[in-house]
Amino acid sequence: MLEHPSIQALLEKQKKQHHVASVLSLLGWDEQVNLPPKSSDQRGQQMATLSEVHHQFGSDPSISGLLKALEADWSQLNDQEQAIVKNSRKEFDRATRLPTDYVTEKAILDSEAYHAWVNARENDDFAAFAPFLKRQLEMAKRGAEFMGRGGDPYDYQIDLFDPGMTAQTIEGLFTTLKEELVPLSREILSSPVQAKNEQLKAFSVDKQEAFLKEVTAKLGFDYDRGRIDVAVHPFCSGNACDTRMTTRFHEDVPLDSLFSSIHETGHGLYEQGLPRDQLHNALGQAVGMGIHESQSRLWENQVSRSREFWQYFEPKYREAFPEQLSSLSSDDLYLAVNAVTLCPIRVDSDEVTYNLHIILRFELEKMLFSGELEVDELPDTWNRLSQEIIGLTPTSNKAGVLQDVHWSGGMFGYFPSYCLGNMIAAQLWYTLLEEMPDLLSDFARGDFSRLLGWLRDRIHQHGKRYETQDLVKRVTGDKINPKHLIQYLKDRYKPLYQ
Ligand SMILES: [Zn+2]
Repeated sequence: MLEHPSIQALLEKQKKQHHVASVLSLLGWDEQVNLPPKSSDQRGQQMATLSEVHHQFGSDPSISGLLKALEADWSQLNDQEQAIVKNSRKEFDRATRLPTDYVTEKAILDSEAYHAWVNARENDDFAAFAPFLKRQLEMAKRGAEFMGRGGDPYDYQIDLFDPGMTAQTIEGLFTTLKEELVPLSREILSSPVQAKNEQLKAFSVDKQEAFLKEVTAKLGFDYDRGRIDVAVHPFCSGNACDTRMTTRFHEDVPLDSLFSSIHETGHGLYEQGLPRDQLHNALGQAVGMGIHESQSRLWENQVSRSREFWQYFEPKYREAFPEQLSSLSSDDLYLAVNAVTLCPIRVDSDEVTYNLHIILRFELEKMLFSGELEVDELPDTWNRLSQEIIGLTPTSNKAGVLQDVHWSGGMFGYFPSYCLGNMIAAQLWYTLLEEMPDLLSDFARGDFSRLLGWLRDRIHQHGKRYETQDLVKRVTGDKINPKHLIQYLKDRYKPLYQ
């Protein structure tokens, strides 16, 4: 299938670079899961050296010749070859157009800004973080200029996480979503129906771990080429051959570890479904963050918050925690799984209000990049817009503008992909139900294989062959459309909250 002679030479180069990248990722995983506290200095140096090696492979001058030869024969390449070349070009330009001074300055700034953010959040002191945020914003704009994207630096940032996506497209989607979601969330929150999550107490960590492993294995995660461990923040890293997930445990918040594990399992199933023989090139890699997030959200929300999922797992959950669940009826448990509460913290939010947190961040980022908003004005504007969009004003900057780590690392344009993921998940869901109207009855029997097979076939096997919008259109017949998410949230939450 890959026929052009220069392709093989290019792939050979990418293979070594990918080996280094995957070792770097493993070291990063180890840092968060195993590393003794006093060993972190050495780890920083190890990773810096390996990053240099990675950069040397990626900026190898001979790649330029290979890419030019392939681009000259563009019309003769098949679509898989085109995807490989297109992505290699992006990566090569990024590796060679950014001056070394800039890359070094950015690496130092990332580290300093991260620590400044940790302290600023701890002390609820935005002014201490503001100079670093200003510099990150400047660096992002300069980076876009080096890449020939100085005219639209925010679009350049967004494209880093979601290939082909633009601020204008996102704005259109979010405007429609906001119009429907703000009133819907207010309706749910004012309902007399209230979940009883505070009654979930004293779930032993050992039993939680055993239960979530049973659930995630049933969903299809292959523990022979992946694992789950404990870390402060849940994440999923690695690749199709070796997928590493993490979770965290709290005895009195058992649904958090269960659902965050299911979420990471969605990411893990995507990674494990990517073609293993193409691991080192674009065909074996995820499209971008929006599609990745659609996979985690689909398993977490559409699947695991469904009645049918709990028809199968509730007896097993009660068997593991008979006393802890004794005061809750089946309906109570189902409502606890689908609790909606007003919360200032994004990561603690439910699937309804979560999207409002993202819309808030997108609007702020857009204004920061256009110059409409100064960094110093950020806390006040955050609080004002938070009241308008989410319906609450955070009582501190710690619970407001300082809550997320992303901006300290200059990761502007990342947040929208969380909400795009929710929209794509809902859109995939309705396509699934159209093609397999009885799909939910599978879940009631503990069978998730038809769903996983469909995702493997429609999404996973293609790697980066299609950009986000093209893939969504190919699978669902339409580009990303927020109406599916709105429909899904109404279908699920209106009956629950009357
Ligand atoms: Zn995720």
